[in-house]
Amino acid sequence: MPAHDFFHSVMRIGPVQIGTHRDRHGTTKHAAVCSNDNCGWSADYTTRSAAQLAARTHRCCVR
Ligand SMILES: [Zn+2]
Repeated sequence: MPAHDFFHSVMRIGPVQIGTHRDRHGTTKHAAVCSNDNCGWSADYTTRSAAQLAARTHRCCVR
């Protein structure tokens, strides 16, 4: 099952959504996911501030 199914507390910065989910060890991860279908970028971070920073600096590869 994709981790995104556990998304909650979603916020949005530009095209990027940030939500938390738990990995299989029960550790809360902060995931940043680009909502642009043509981009598909996503990454997990251990802190929300890191995920927010990544969302702010994300540049879609789509032109
Ligand atoms: Zn993107």
